[in-house]
Amino acid sequence: MLKVINPATNEIVKEYDEHTPEEVADIIGKVQDAFIRWRQTDFTHRKSLMHKAAEVLRKNKNQYARTMTMEMGKTITEARAEVEKCAWVCDYYADHAEEFLADDIVETDASRSLVAFEPIGIVLAVMPWNFPFWQVFRFAAPALMAGNAGVLKHASNVPGSALAIEAVFREAGFPEEIFRTLLISSRQVEAVIADSRIRAVTLTGSEPAGMSVASIAGRELKKTVLELGGSDPYIVLDDADLPACVATSVTARMINTGQSCIAAKRFIVVEPMVKQFEQQQKATMESLKVGDPLLDDTKVGPMARMDLLDELDEQVHKSIAMGARVLCGGRKADGPGAFYLPTVLTEVKKGMPVYEQETFGPVAAIIPVKDTEEAIAVANDSLFGLGGSVWSRDVQKAEAVARRIETGSVFVNGMTKSDPRLPFGGIKKSGYGRELSHYGIREFVNIKTIWIA
Ligand code: NAP
Repeated sequence: MLKVINPATNEIVKEYDEHTPEEVADIIGKVQDAFIRWRQTDFTHRKSLMHKAAEVLRKNKNQYARTMTMEMGKTITEARAEVEKCAWVCDYYADHAEEFLADDIVETDASRSLVAFEPIGIVLAVMPWNFPFWQVFRFAAPALMAGNAGVLKHASNVPGSALAIEAVFREAGFPEEIFRTLLISSRQVEAVIADSRIRAVTLTGSEPAGMSVASIAGRELKKTVLELGGSDPYIVLDDADLPACVATSVTARMINTGQSCIAAKRFIVVEPMVKQFEQQQKATMESLKVGDPLLDDTKVGPMARMDLLDELDEQVHKSIAMGARVLCGGRKADGPGAFYLPTVLTEVKKGMPVYEQETFGPVAAIIPVKDTEEAIAVANDSLFGLGGSVWSRDVQKAEAVARRIETGSVFVNGMTKSDPRLPFGGIKKSGYGRELSHYGIREFVNIKTIWIA
C-alpha cells in the first residue's frame, strides 16, 4: 500500500494499492508492444503529440499543481511554475528532437558512412518526490521523441502525481501504453530492471538508491544515467555585487523549501564580505513567509516527510555541537506538519555534517575563507559535484574560477538552474550521464554506424 500523507498537516491524503509482480509484468508486456509500433512513427507525428502534451499540461496546470502540493508540500506558486517548465521541455524536444537525432554523415573509405540514432526500447525511470512532474518530464519528453517507451517508478509519496503524468500523455493522444506508471515500492525495482524488455534505467535520487540501482543494472548489463545529490558551493568573492548576490543566495537555497539537488548549500564567502553577507542573508531569510503551501503568498512550505525533517534537524544539531553559530532558525517550527525554520549557520568548518553532507532542506551554511584560492579549495572539497555559483563584478576572473570548480555546471553571477537547452548532470558522487539538451536525448539511443562499400 502506498500511503500519501500531506506534510503540511500530517493527514492521510489517499492510499493506493501497489501493483503485483504479475500486474507489473503485464504492463511491461503492453508497453513493449506499444514500443514496437511507436518506433516506426516519424518525427512529425511524435512532434504533434508532444506539443499536445504541452497543451494538456498548461490546460490542467492548477489541478496538477495542487496534486503536487498536497503530496509533497511544495508551495502552490512553485508547483504551477513546475508544470509550466514541463510544458517548455515538451515543446523544446518536440521542436528539436529531429535535428538532434539526424544522421551524422562521416567521410571514411566507404562510399557512404553515417551514424544513425535509433531507439533502444523501454527505459525505466526511478524518480524522486522533490520535483514530481519536472524530473519525469525531463526524462520522458526526450525518451518518447527518440522513439523509446517509458515506465515510471515514482517515489512512494507521490503516486497521484505519477498517475497524473501517465494521463497527460494519454490525453495528448499518445498510444495508451507507451508511457506507464508502476505503483511499486523500491523493493520491486530489482525485478523490473532484470526484465529483459527493460533496456536502460535512469534514476534521480539519493546516493544509496543510485548505488543500488546502478549495481543491479550493471549486473544486467543495462545502461544507467544517475542524477544524485549535491552540496553546491556558492562562492562570494571580495568584489561581488552583494545585494544581488544575497538576494539570489536566498532564492538559490530556499527553492522547493531547500529540497533541490542543485540548491546552493555551502556559502563560501571571502573574508572582507563575511560580516555583511551574514547580516543580509539572515535578514532576508527571516523575512520569508513560512506556512500553508496552498496559499499564494507563502514562500516556504513544509518539508516533504517527517523523517526527512528529523534527518535535517540532526545534521543541524550535530553541526552546532561542533561549533557552528546559529544566525537564525536552527530548529523545527512549532505546530503540526514537517516545517523547519529558515536557518542560517555560520563559522561552518570541515567535519561538520552541514559541510560534508547534503542538507536537503532550508538550511544555509556559511563557510568563511581568507581568499579566492581557499574558496576554490573548499568548493572542491566535497564528495559531490553537481552545480555551483561564483559571484564577482569581474566576470573574467569569475569565469576563470568557474573553470576550476569540479562540478557538472557553474553559473557566474546567477543561481544554478536547469534549462532544456543546457546539459544537466554531475560528476563524483552526484552521478553520471546528462539530461536535457542534445546530450540528454542521445543517452538512450543506439548510436549506430552504417558503412556502405
Ligand atoms: P531516494 O530514496 O533516493 O528516492 C528516489 C527514488 O528512488 C524513489 O523512487 C525511491 O523509491 C527509489 N529508491 C530508493 N531506494 C531504492 C533502492 N534501493 N532501489 C531502487 N529504488 C530505490 O530519496 P528519498 O528517500 O526520497 O530522499 C533521501 C535523500 O535523497 C534526500 O535527503 C536527498 O539527500 C536525496 N535526494 C536527492 C534528490 C535529487 O534530485 N538529487 C531527490 C530526492 C532526494 P521509494 O520512494 O519507494 O523509496
